[in-house]
Amino acid sequence: MAVEATEQLRAYVEYLRDLGIHEFYRQGDPLPPEEQAALLGAVAPTQVQAPPVSAAVTAVRPAAVVPAVPPAAAMPAVPPAASRVVPPVPPSVPAPLSAAQPAPISAPPRAASPADPLESSIAIPKPVSFDQLVALPAERVAPAAKADALQAIRTEIGDCTRCPLAYAGRHNIVFGDGDPNARLMFVGEGPGADEDAQGLPFVGKAGQLLNNMIGAMGLKREQVYIANIVKCRPPANRVPEPVEANTCSPFLLQQIDVIQPQVIVALGATAATYLLGIRQSLASLRGSWHSCRGAKVVVTYHPAFLLRDPRQKGEAWKDLQRVMVELELKPMPKA
Ligand code: URA
Repeated sequence: MAVEATEQLRAYVEYLRDLGIHEFYRQGDPLPPEEQAALLGAVAPTQVQAPPVSAAVTAVRPAAVVPAVPPAAAMPAVPPAASRVVPPVPPSVPAPLSAAQPAPISAPPRAASPADPLESSIAIPKPVSFDQLVALPAERVAPAAKADALQAIRTEIGDCTRCPLAYAGRHNIVFGDGDPNARLMFVGEGPGADEDAQGLPFVGKAGQLLNNMIGAMGLKREQVYIANIVKCRPPANRVPEPVEANTCSPFLLQQIDVIQPQVIVALGATAATYLLGIRQSLASLRGSWHSCRGAKVVVTYHPAFLLRDPRQKGEAWKDLQRVMVELELKPMPKA
């Protein structure tokens, strides 16, 4: 496929994904097995069998459009996701994370059904909500201790090599930024090129728009806390793979437990999926309150999506206005 067409397809898939549409279908005759295997990025073409000839619609996973992780042979061994548990609690954070029995971070793969060749070749783990991962802390971190508690989590992360993103061209780990005592937290998907270069979240074009959104709410960026589901840049800004998100997001969970914001704004479908443990369209998640780690959660469009489709800015503003009512914020006076 020509580069321009590939880019267009990629942009379209990203657009749909921002809307929370994760399943894609190719209409027409079923593909021959080898083409399916190429589309699915399967390692062994023999593992992928053609669907029944009668099927007029062939399911194609979005991951096939944007290449995922480097081949396993090229990567250092990563322990299986199921064996990973929530990382140790920093000393200044109260006990609950270590005291609680952590739930498995990713659900076991769905049982393969021989009647469903796609399911048998690719098992996408179901997201598990942050609330299910580990019990809520019994005690709050004292406001004066929060900065140190966050620093302890950063120290624990170290020069992380826990997931494939460590080997995918990362320059900086983007931990998160802002007021450790923030009442409002924004969670995005993962760092882009600018964030990777600077080690700070939302500092590129999408970040400029996020800054404007925060300003319109009557706040300064320094008054909120901003973080992402994954702390390392996925190559070509692709969506984090479940194993990457599941490996990294327990650190975000700890950050949330330290900060204990009143409200979290989930920016886009990926943030909503992992915070809430539900893979649903953005349309169905917007407009109601959700809950995560004791905070009220609003789901809205990712600023990068709003840059692609500015007509939706009014809708995003409606979401932010609900947050403002909740936090009793006064909008920025018009100049
Ligand atoms: N997009 C995100 O989701 N996070 C960032 O930090 C930047 C862009």
